[in-house]
Amino acid sequence: MIEHREYYADGRFRPASGTARLPLASPTDGRSLGVVVACSAADVDLAIASAQRALPAWSASSLDERRQALQRLRLELEARAPGIIQSLAIEIGCPVWLGRLMQLPMPLKGLELATAGLDRIQWRETIGNGVVERVPAGVVAAITPWNFPLHQMVAKIAAAIGAGCTLVLKPSEVAPGAARQLFDALDACGLPPGVVNLVWGGPDVGEQLVSHPHVRHISFTGSTTVGRRIMATAAEGLKPVTLELGGKSAAVVLDDADLDTAIPAVVRMSMANSGQACVSQSRLIVPARLAPQVVERFAAALEAWPLGDPLVEATRLGPVATAAQHRRVIEMIERAGVEGAELLLGGAQPPAGLEHGCYVRPTLFGKVRPEMEIARHEVFGPVVALLAYDTEGEAAELANATTYGLSGAVWSADAHRATAFARGLNTGQVVINGAAQNLATPFGGWGDSGFGRENGRFGIEDLLRYRALHGAV
Ligand code: NAD
Repeated sequence: MIEHREYYADGRFRPASGTARLPLASPTDGRSLGVVVACSAADVDLAIASAQRALPAWSASSLDERRQALQRLRLELEARAPGIIQSLAIEIGCPVWLGRLMQLPMPLKGLELATAGLDRIQWRETIGNGVVERVPAGVVAAITPWNFPLHQMVAKIAAAIGAGCTLVLKPSEVAPGAARQLFDALDACGLPPGVVNLVWGGPDVGEQLVSHPHVRHISFTGSTTVGRRIMATAAEGLKPVTLELGGKSAAVVLDDADLDTAIPAVVRMSMANSGQACVSQSRLIVPARLAPQVVERFAAALEAWPLGDPLVEATRLGPVATAAQHRRVIEMIERAGVEGAELLLGGAQPPAGLEHGCYVRPTLFGKVRPEMEIARHEVFGPVVALLAYDTEGEAAELANATTYGLSGAVWSADAHRATAFARGLNTGQVVINGAAQNLATPFGGWGDSGFGRENGRFGIEDLLRYRALHGAV
């Protein structure tokens, strides 16, 4: 049984003194894995005070000190790779294959890009008699979800270290293993005490962080509902927020696209991590006349995605992360049927032999209309809505018929045509013809997907403020 009871403040681990015990259950079979002992309000205050004390010295640190800290963290994390991948499989059901392919490489790359980003920022600029400086925002509260937990935590920590801010992190109570190992790595880095701090807890601890007067910026990744609430609370203290929220991204297949390349790629971008990715391509928009061929290829591509125990090497699809998430996904599948969508693949029945875990069969719905729940709301599971169009104009309308705006994809034999189409999508990023997602570019959403940007220099700049000095020398 795992018991996470040590939070991290002032450069050392300490026992949390809260009364709440947050239970951890295996998504594979529901057995208890242990508990997270929540921090008390006094523990959270201590962590924020520690960040506040460390701020003057860290905000005056040299770029070299920050660069070295980021480089050391990268090495320390890499050394902990096997343990982190194992705990992601056990706690959130992420297949070890995906842990090695994405969950770990993304934060390692993120640390490299933050390091490189330090030299790409204009820290000081002279304009006539004015000197414009970019200064750290202050103490940052970082609140993160469970789906790519290491990447999400590291994105915020790397940005804070790079910007000269200090930080208190509240990771998801669902995936504490990665957070603990990340703080073991940070502890080994020898950062000055108080630069990074960790508190355990659920929404109440998150709310305490957001409303604390010493916190000057909130960086949140999670659901749109919680993001809205955080922004409302932050407004009381007039605190800037970075919100990386949900999505309902569309993959648009234009009529000249090579379906043999496009459809397996869309399957990957909708099924990886069992669809629990904010950028998951959960809507597939195709020419009506090609729909039967698309469905055929979708089914064929799914054969390469066996469901099973996340600790087994060959598994590509694990369970969804929690019983609550499982219930939510199954209910959305059932409601899609009631609303009139046609179940083409998968469905709400548990997969054979995997009846006791949080497993969901990869599911594809046809005859989806844009007003249906399955076309509008994030499922956060391995479920795709197929929407058909007759003209390219209709395809763009369907793609933009969402309040979200995080990501998207376009496929065409003509890269110029695909690029022109991509420019018409109301979303923070678009992947053209399956291009690799470039982590050096700014990541973030429009509309209900939030605002603010992460990754590399953009993540650091998000945590900087301008100061203009008139007549400075
Ligand atoms: P969630 O919003 O339920 O929780 C996220 C974090 O917020 C957790 O640490 C939780 O304890 C905390 N929290 C909950 N209520 C709070 C409150 N009132 N005040 C302060 N903190 C609070 O999200 P989740 O279920 O952990 O993650 C799934 C969601 O995250 C999905 O909607 C997904 O799209 C989104 N997500 C977005 C991105 C992105 O970069 N845009 C990336 C990953 C996940």
